[in-house]
Amino acid sequence: MANILLVYPSPEVQKQWRFGFSLNLLYLSSILKQAGHKVIFKDYSVENLNLEALTELLSQIEVAIIEFDSFPLKRALNIHNGEFLANFIKHTNKGIKTIAFGYDCILQPRIIPNIDYVLAQEPEKAIAYVIKCLLAKMEINRQDLGTMKIEDLDDLPFPDRTILSSYAEHGGSIYRKSTLAKSTLVQTSRGCMNTCRFCQRKGWTNKYNEHSIDYVISEFHDITASGYKNVWICDDNFTFNLNRAKKILKRLINDRLTEGMHIALSSWIRIDREFLELAKQANVSVISVGIESTNQEILKFYNKQINLDETEKLIRFADQLGVYIVGNFIIGAPMETENTINDTFEYIMRIPFDQVNVKILDYMLGSKLYSELPDDKKNSERHIFACKETALNDFPMEYLKNRIHTFMKEFTASRRNHFINKASRFGLPYKLLNGGVRPHR
Ligand code: SF4
Repeated sequence: MANILLVYPSPEVQKQWRFGFSLNLLYLSSILKQAGHKVIFKDYSVENLNLEALTELLSQIEVAIIEFDSFPLKRALNIHNGEFLANFIKHTNKGIKTIAFGYDCILQPRIIPNIDYVLAQEPEKAIAYVIKCLLAKMEINRQDLGTMKIEDLDDLPFPDRTILSSYAEHGGSIYRKSTLAKSTLVQTSRGCMNTCRFCQRKGWTNKYNEHSIDYVISEFHDITASGYKNVWICDDNFTFNLNRAKKILKRLINDRLTEGMHIALSSWIRIDREFLELAKQANVSVISVGIESTNQEILKFYNKQINLDETEKLIRFADQLGVYIVGNFIIGAPMETENTINDTFEYIMRIPFDQVNVKILDYMLGSKLYSELPDDKKNSERHIFACKETALNDFPMEYLKNRIHTFMKEFTASRRNHFINKASRFGLPYKLLNGGVRPHR
């Protein structure tokens, strides 16, 4: 059995804060411990990279596993820092076997310098085999690897939350003071069979896989017993199977598993009032929904079907219930005009969103939009923002950034009183450390 180092390299750009860590590494930790390995975890997205301390640590390590992540999770790549760490590890101790895995390896399978094996698939079923082969200097059989897929998500153990630092569990880092009560992530399903053309997730999974409801409830028992107060359900789309999502919420309510807890989740807007009522009863405090645009031609371009009137009614209903709604929007489609941007911004202002994210359309590796670009436009970039400079719409990049910046200032100012009233009636969206007060924006 080996001493194994699991590493999350630091993101290359520190973008707007949001809670999170790599659940993938936590699943690997559980699997490797079950196989009898000793696991040490270093998360350089929250802690400082101290090369002296790392050198000392490496003297006890036989295998280092580095996650090469993709944009949506930490909102920045970490692959160059991953390459730096691989180089550092091999130069410190040549005998250490190095493995890279992660969404970036699936999106762009390649040889990575100083990495002994790049695992370009979901790693959980294959990791023990790859480690065994590397340590025994045996050839890794690609055909065997191809059979090591997760058919039943319930085969996975619960992620190993014991390896997380207090920083990670309280929303802090070396750059940011901890503010949240004990917090964690949970994943009840992977994938989403919706067809949004900008969605990068389609690049690393083309199937939808879900845990049984019993598994989810059992994991929530574990989470509750461990004293977590904020839980982010980090499924790609928690309500892709709306009936199942409702059944999970009903069980959480009946088993009183989320009392005193706050839950946040992401969902498409194909939900209904019953879902919102159940969510409220289960202590879901935040729902993040993708709407993208209010222009039907643009929605058609994104391959997204949304009934805007129905969406407005649902958001108003969620607001009455005291559920905080985050709306996600994109500007910059090829047919975008001043009028369509104005229409989208007016819609946002009219409706009681508690927070919005407005992004510039990004053609990201893995998305259908990116795959349809001619090669000369991709120019080996992993993503290309839509703007006049890239000939993907008529608006200069700076102009789009300014439009968003100005709008966000207006939006934030306009919601201040609404937020204060809502928080005083229903409480804050997240539980805070030691009862401190920190608004969510
Ligand atoms: S609903 Fe969300 S997860 Fe599903 S395809 Fe669209 S953007 Fe991706």
